[in-house]
Amino acid sequence: MFAKRIIGLLPSPTMMLDQRAKELRRQGIEIINLSAGEPDYDTPTSIKEAAIHAIEAGFTHYTQPEGIFELREAIAHKFKKDNNISYDPSQIIVGAGSKQILYSAFQVLCDKNDEVLVPTPVYSSYIEQIKLAEGKPVCIKLKSPFKLTAADVERAITPKTKILLLNTPASPTGAIIEKAELQKIAKLVIKHDLWVISDEIYEKIIYTGKHISIAAINKLVKEKTLTVNGVSKAFAMTGWRIGYAGGPKNVIRAMTTLQSQMTSNANSIAQMAALGSLKSGKGTREAMNNSYIKRRTFLLDALADIPQLSFVAPEGAFYFFVSLEKVLGRKYKTAPEWCEALLKEEKVAVVPGEAFLYPNYFRLSFTKPTVTLVEAVKRIKRFVEKNS
Ligand code: PMP
Repeated sequence: MFAKRIIGLLPSPTMMLDQRAKELRRQGIEIINLSAGEPDYDTPTSIKEAAIHAIEAGFTHYTQPEGIFELREAIAHKFKKDNNISYDPSQIIVGAGSKQILYSAFQVLCDKNDEVLVPTPVYSSYIEQIKLAEGKPVCIKLKSPFKLTAADVERAITPKTKILLLNTPASPTGAIIEKAELQKIAKLVIKHDLWVISDEIYEKIIYTGKHISIAAINKLVKEKTLTVNGVSKAFAMTGWRIGYAGGPKNVIRAMTTLQSQMTSNANSIAQMAALGSLKSGKGTREAMNNSYIKRRTFLLDALADIPQLSFVAPEGAFYFFVSLEKVLGRKYKTAPEWCEALLKEEKVAVVPGEAFLYPNYFRLSFTKPTVTLVEAVKRIKRFVEKNS
C-alpha cells in the first residue's frame, strides 16, 4: 500500500474547489467562481516578452539549482529596496513557486515532532507540508480581526517549539501584522531561539497600513528568518511557478541541496520571465492594484448590505473572510453545507472556512471584474435571505 505520509495527506481544498467550478463550467453550467487565489489578469506583456526572448535565445538548459545569478541578484536588490533587508545573492533561492520554497523550508528546518506555530485562519498547505516534514502544527486560533500579537505567540511557545510561521498580509483574512507587534514577536523569537518562516507573498497588495518584514526589524531576528515571496500574486504569474526566499546562508545552502535532488532547478524560461517582472512589471502591477481597490470598495458596501453576514475590511490580499455565524444553524449547519448549497442553487463558488482551519466562515476572492462581483453579491444576498 501507499506510504503513511501519503495516506494522511489532504489535497489543497482551494485548488479542488477551483477545479470543481471549472468542471461545472465545462459541463455548460455557468459558475461565478470566487474561490481561486489568483489574479484574473493575464501576465503583463513585457514579462511574456522576456520569456519569448529566453526561448529564442536558447535559454532552455538546466540552471544552477538555486536559480540563475541575475535573478538572485535582482531579488536581493528587491529585498533591499522594498523591504530594507540586505541579502547577498548567495542568500537567495528560487524555486517552483513559493509553495515549493515553503515545502523545502519545512523539510530543512523541521525535525520529527518539532512544533511549528501556525496562526489560524491559515493557508492550509502549511499544515500538510509541516506534517510531511513530520513536524507538529500548533494552531494559534485568532479572533476577528485576526491580527497576531506577541502575547498569542508567547502563550503557544513550549520547549518543543522550533518554528514560527508568519503570513502578512494574510490569506484568507488580509490582516497585516503591525511593526510594533513584529518588534515584540522578534524579541520572543530571539529569546526562545526559534526559526521564522515569513510568507510575504501578498506584500504588494495592500489597502491600509504598511507591510513590514520581520527580518528588517534587527540583525538577530534576520539571522533566524526565512523571508518567502514570489511573483505569482504581484505580477499575475501563478502559472509560471516562480517563488523565492532570502535567508541565512546555511539554510539557503541546505534548501539548495534538497532542491538539487528534487527538481534540479525552477524552469529556466520562467526564471527569465521573473527577472523581467522585477525589472519592468511595476506599472502593470499598480494598474491591477487600482482595480482591486475599486472592487474592495464595492464589496465593503455591498456585503455590509447583507446584515446576516459580518466581516472585517481586508487590509491586504484580495479576499473577504466572511462570518456565517448569524446564518448557520437553521437550514444549514456548517459552512461547507452552506457553500455547497450556494454553488448548487446560485452558481457561486466560495471556499468554506474549514479549508483554512476556521469553521463558520467563507472566503470570497475578489479577483473578478466588478460587474461579476455585483451579480455574485446579488445572488449571495438572495440566498442568505431565502435561508435565514
Ligand atoms: N502562500 C500563500 C499565503 C498563498 O495564498 C499562496 C497561493 N495560494 C502561496 C503561498 C503559494 O503561491 P505560489 O506557489 O504560486 O508562489
